[in-house]
Amino acid sequence: MKFIADSMLGRLARWLRLLGCDTIYYPHIEDRRLIRIASEEDRVLITRDTRLVKMRGLKHFLLLHENDPFEQLKKVIITFNLNPFELHKGGFETRPYSRCSLCNTPLKSIPKEQAEPHVPEYVYQTSEMFKQCPTCGKFYWKGTHPEKLRKKLMEIL
Ligand SMILES: [Zn+2]
Repeated sequence: MKFIADSMLGRLARWLRLLGCDTIYYPHIEDRRLIRIASEEDRVLITRDTRLVKMRGLKHFLLLHENDPFEQLKKVIITFNLNPFELHKGGFETRPYSRCSLCNTPLKSIPKEQAEPHVPEYVYQTSEMFKQCPTCGKFYWKGTHPEKLRKKLMEIL
């Protein structure tokens, strides 16, 4: 399941990436280009724009009515039966910590020592798993945002 989020859904796009979903997002993009990419790359367009979903050439979309990004995330998870963190039986498992939240690139595991100069001291001391984005260079470790997201999701799913 691959997604493309419209330009109003930046926070949702970042969260979906943190959960491991392939999600592209451009803060500024023309409607036609958005539709074209969705079709060419076989992505589901996630949008809040009722006008956009009526455009020609759009095959798969999810129209959101929620304003709150967390409510939007909940809707996407339920609609597509995603199962991040193996919260329940069945559904499509996604792999949290597998994709860069800034640029959607799959993350690479790196040795702990390599992360040392780049992460806070307490993180280095308490974490064993470190990853880095090969495109933008951002570092990730277990305990970053997905953990908070997991707790919140467990309350609702
Ligand atoms: Zn990146």
